[in-house]
Amino acid sequence: MQRNPYNRELKEKLKIFKKLRENATWEEKELLDASIDIILDILKSKSIKIRNYQDQLLLDYNFLTLYKYLWSLVNDISKITNDDITSIPYPQLNVDNKELIGLVHDFFKNGTTKEIFELFCKLYKERKSLYFLKSQDPTIYANSLYLPYDESFYVQMSRKNEFNDIAILAHEYGHGIHLLSNFSPNLYNNLIVYSEIVSMFFELICSDYYSKIKEFEKSAIVTQFETWDMITENAKNLFQEFSVLSIVDINKFQSEGDLIKNIDSFVNSANQRELSDLLDCRPSEDFIYIIAQSIVIELYMIYLNDSEKAFYLLKKIIDIDLNLPPQVYLSEINKLGINPNQNIDEYNMHLKRELKKIL
Ligand SMILES: [Zn+2]
Repeated sequence: MQRNPYNRELKEKLKIFKKLRENATWEEKELLDASIDIILDILKSKSIKIRNYQDQLLLDYNFLTLYKYLWSLVNDISKITNDDITSIPYPQLNVDNKELIGLVHDFFKNGTTKEIFELFCKLYKERKSLYFLKSQDPTIYANSLYLPYDESFYVQMSRKNEFNDIAILAHEYGHGIHLLSNFSPNLYNNLIVYSEIVSMFFELICSDYYSKIKEFEKSAIVTQFETWDMITENAKNLFQEFSVLSIVDINKFQSEGDLIKNIDSFVNSANQRELSDLLDCRPSEDFIYIIAQSIVIELYMIYLNDSEKAFYLLKKIIDIDLNLPPQVYLSEINKLGINPNQNIDEYNMHLKRELKKIL
């Protein structure tokens, strides 16, 4: 795995933050500790070893059953079919890195609000936050990192030279905008299932913004459709994994040992080909993106009619207390009048109409 290009800088910061901690106030200490934890996680790049399907199912069970109340959202999306439209590859984008950054900058400047653009500029710092990876590492498309103590932000991208590069960078800065506005380590712990909402909204409206500009119209619309099509495909796989997890499920009187036994006997008796078809694509990793999409679509449908209202609601979502329990967090979103998946069919039809216009 490739090392982050900013690891050296992070190591320096780690030393400085540890030193600052000695004489810090209680409030500063909280931000320093959070920043130190984030850096240590990155430097250790601890990834959990998965040796077999048993490990994978156990891990997925423990994660996904925490959010069982959201499973029906995935099931709704899995029912969407776009078989009438053949899948089109993501459109190519022939611009250099500097031009790419310029396009992302233009979107934030002209396609969002003054307040959001200011947040973007604060993160962006004259391109200093952005690193392009030289080698084409297939495991990384783009990711980002925010340190709350000094409000610094790092983005790295391995370019695919597709139009999606623009939307994905807007996505990463969306993470930064959320964290800069309202930081809590909790967003990446027990609220992780909601951590992609803000970023995916920016990704979507970035494509929408470029679909209005002649030069990019076709690429932007196809990209928006392909991303949605991929989400619906991922939802289908995850829906199947839910049924596996229901088979191995334990009741409240049983222990993790019982769960492991159930998983073992399931894996041993399952058709190995079918099992690998299902689990090798790691459906559980898509869960947070599918959940985010179910909320983002609602916000986007509002955006199409009234962008000001959508940005107002986005700000409300950003400001939701990040220390709420996950189910209460969702009810805060509901209180804003946003009900996940209410308009997925309309969204699907909207995309198909757009697609028909250009194909
Ligand atoms: Zn993301």
